[in-house]
Amino acid sequence: MTMTTMDVKLKPGDYKSGLAPVWCPGCGDFGILNALYRAMAELQIEPWNTVIVSGIGCSSRLPGYVHSYGFNGVHGRGLTLATGVKVARPELTVIAVGGDGDGLAIGGNHLIHSARRNLDVTYILMDNEIYGLTKGQVAPTTPRGDKTKSTFWGNPEPSVDPCELAISTGATWVGRGYSGDVKFTTKLITQAIQHHGFSFLNIISPCVTWRGDDQFKALKEILQYIPEDHDASRRAPAVQYTREKDVLTTGILYEVEQPSLVDRLDQIKADAQGDGPEPSTREILETFFPKF
Ligand code: SF4
Repeated sequence: MTMTTMDVKLKPGDYKSGLAPVWCPGCGDFGILNALYRAMAELQIEPWNTVIVSGIGCSSRLPGYVHSYGFNGVHGRGLTLATGVKVARPELTVIAVGGDGDGLAIGGNHLIHSARRNLDVTYILMDNEIYGLTKGQVAPTTPRGDKTKSTFWGNPEPSVDPCELAISTGATWVGRGYSGDVKFTTKLITQAIQHHGFSFLNIISPCVTWRGDDQFKALKEILQYIPEDHDASRRAPAVQYTREKDVLTTGILYEVEQPSLVDRLDQIKADAQGDGPEPSTREILETFFPKF
């Protein structure tokens, strides 16, 4: 994370790009965007040292709405971009965003490997349980039995619990939020960015167009915060809060400290170099091409 060195204190509004979001009125993604602006201001993150990447989908438009560097990539590949940026420029704050279809179907493979590598980025999964941009097809987080545009008789497949997947594949920080609770979501995003290692934040974000606009009301009724005595350092208590049906618990489910991918790459580099000076590019090339 890179903090500002300027005397000027940046406010949430300073992180707006000036581009108006094209999301449907009432979309849950607005709450996440506002929480992100607030979290960035809370941490005084320098926009010029921040990169936000995404895949494809309604929520993947987000990088365009933030005053920072950004990249709206191809479907399911937000984390591949994040990996390249972070490994090449570890000093930058790197945030990946996207939806559940983007991140758990075509991009599911990249979530698993980013988690096990402990890639030092924050991944915000904006979970609306549907493919919104392509007009309401069933997605990996759509509950079994739900009717969608592509499952008229009900979804025959069991759904994925994103937090359970992230915990089991090695993420070192896993949290769950709700976009209708901007204040608490701000706190979670702030903590996720501060975490050293792979922080995965699943934010329930209602799609008012394809999942019905009474979702905010329904979710508010079952919302609860994780108990203060929850032991986030152990996997077993953390997964008790996954696959919930009658309640929605928000908070930090799991948090441990481990070396990140960049830490381990730095260690390999140090071991390989030993105590000698860093070789020049010419010396490296001459190792492989003696007549270079
Ligand atoms: Fe939001 Fe759904 Fe509209 Fe997409 S289709 S912008 S997820 S409300």
